[in-house]
Amino acid sequence: MLDREFFLGFVRIHILYHASKEPISGVEIAKELRRHGYYLSPGTLYPALHRLEKKGYLERSSRVVAGKVRKYYVITQQGLEVLKDASKKIRELVDEVLEEGG
Ligand SMILES: [Zn+2]
Repeated sequence: MLDREFFLGFVRIHILYHASKEPISGVEIAKELRRHGYYLSPGTLYPALHRLEKKGYLERSSRVVAGKVRKYYVITQQGLEVLKDASKKIRELVDEVLEEGG
C-alpha cells in the first residue's frame, strides 16, 4: 500500500501532466488516475485540484458538453515549469532507485 503522502504527490504530478496534454475535467482525471491504479474519492480529488489551482499551476474554465456545464482544467505557464522541474527530479530518482533495485 502506497504511503498517503507519496500517493498525493504522485497524484498531483499526474494531474499536472495530463492538464499539460489537454484541458481535462475532474471526471476524466479520476478515470485516468484509476487507469494507473490510483483510486480517489471526490473528497480527495477536488481538494487536490483546488490546491493546484490556488497555487497557480492550473487554470479552470467552464465548457458546455452535451448540454451540461463542465469544469475543465488546463496547466498554466507556472505549472509547466513546476512539471518540468519535477520531471527532471523524477528521472534522477527513478534512475537511482531502479539501478539500486537491479
Ligand atoms: Zn496518466
